[in-house]
Amino acid sequence: MFCFQCEQTAGCKACTSAGVCGKTDNTARLQDELTGALITAARKGAEVSDALLLEGLFATLTNVNFDDGAIAALIKRVNQPFYDMYEVRDADEDVRSLKSLLLFGARGVAAYAYNCAALGYDVAGICAYIRKALAAVGDDGYGMDELLPLVMECGKVNFEVLELLDKANTSTFGTPAPVKVTQTVEPGAFIVISGHDLGDLKLLLEQTQGRGVNVYTHGEMLPTHAYPELAKYPHLKGNFGTAWQNQQKEFADVPAAFLFTTNCLMPPKESYADRVFTTAAVGYPGLVHIGGDKDFAPVIEKALALGGYAEPRTITGINGGGSVTTGFGHGAVLSNAGTIVDAVKSGAISHFFLVGGCDGARPGRNYFTDFVKQTPEDTIILTLACGKYRFNDLDIGELGGLPRILDMGQCNDAYSAIKVALALAEAFGCGVNDLPLTMILSWYEQKAVSILLTLLYLGVKNIRLGPTLPAFVSPNVLNFLVESFGIAPTTTAAEDIKAILG
Ligand code: SF4
Ligand code: SF4
Repeated sequence: MFCFQCEQTAGCKACTSAGVCGKTDNTARLQDELTGALITAARKGAEVSDALLLEGLFATLTNVNFDDGAIAALIKRVNQPFYDMYEVRDADEDVRSLKSLLLFGARGVAAYAYNCAALGYDVAGICAYIRKALAAVGDDGYGMDELLPLVMECGKVNFEVLELLDKANTSTFGTPAPVKVTQTVEPGAFIVISGHDLGDLKLLLEQTQGRGVNVYTHGEMLPTHAYPELAKYPHLKGNFGTAWQNQQKEFADVPAAFLFTTNCLMPPKESYADRVFTTAAVGYPGLVHIGGDKDFAPVIEKALALGGYAEPRTITGINGGGSVTTGFGHGAVLSNAGTIVDAVKSGAISHFFLVGGCDGARPGRNYFTDFVKQTPEDTIILTLACGKYRFNDLDIGELGGLPRILDMGQCNDAYSAIKVALALAEAFGCGVNDLPLTMILSWYEQKAVSILLTLLYLGVKNIRLGPTLPAFVSPNVLNFLVESFGIAPTTTAAEDIKAILG
């Protein structure tokens, strides 16, 4: 096997015998064949539905689908000869780098488009671009000149899909409002729901109503507490645990059912594997998969059989906090725009940091905790995605009536951060790069790649990226990113803060 699509890739180079994520050699081969079949279909203009295209790509994201049977079934449905992915891996290193950037970016776009389509939104235009990108990945005649514009276009299309997803989520579930969420689990049967799919949460809340089963969010589901149409269910009680990489520890022996709607699933340990369920593009051999009818009865029955805790139980954040705050999407932040602009003008707010992105297992990720802890008291921290679990249980005070840490939502809500940045730039009559705003991004998997491409498409400069740079970025491509956009790797929290604030 050969896979280097995520941040935890072996030796910061590539997983070649088994995935650090738990993906087997055989699963990697099948995922390559699925990608190769979709590439052939895109090149030939063969009939593959938008739904199949998106599900097929989503299933190849890191920590989504480990089930060889499910991937083989997708390959069968695509029904095309495989383009050989080793053609990409054996290509000139810059071509390989750009094609990988394009493919992984397109996988991220596909994941966001999948969530839009699940809420009934039209993604035909997005899928047309994805097909164009896949066709380019499979075109052996493409060099840097042809690939670079397509990589930049990936950022543009991802911006469009994030905007559409924001519309889909807020039109369906209302505008998020700030809310404090407990990390304490009440006695009695409960289900923990993870992933990014708000529609699945809504269905689960409907199906558990009056059943004596409480629902807790996990990981990227935390921000759903802020949506009025989800928060209105009294049995949506709180949040369970922290970010995805801690699930094997936090789920061990817990008397509850776990439902994964999207990434990030880790191979379940024996002590809780009998209570983990998957749906949509997620899969793992031996786990019960809830199909398209979204009948969550097996999940509910399992939760009732396990019965939950007898006493309240708090799973604290990594800094020991017992609650977290979320719901500062663009609607909530921009409703305070006047106060924020005045605070910047008066000097009460000196700088904004966007510290966000994925979390992961690498030890260097405590950089992000250290960074937030060391920021001066007159600065605001905007955050999103699961990287926030490094610091979202910290109480670092308030500024201008707002908490200093503003959680804008999932990685799916990156549009909120962009919209706030653009609105502030307009209010100050300057460009985004002239704002007192610095982005410190943590990356892990392919959705983060597509978000990074969006920020580059928007011309955002001087992003700091950590904890390590992607293995698929060649020295020449890295040079291009440094010279054109000033991208820099994270160093230490103290050094970076000093360099940013001068
Ligand atoms: S997804 Fe990441 S950890 Fe898994 S095989 Fe690929 S590079 Fe390795
Ligand atoms: S932000 Fe990225 S790493 Fe974190 S749960 Fe979401 S998809 Fe996974």
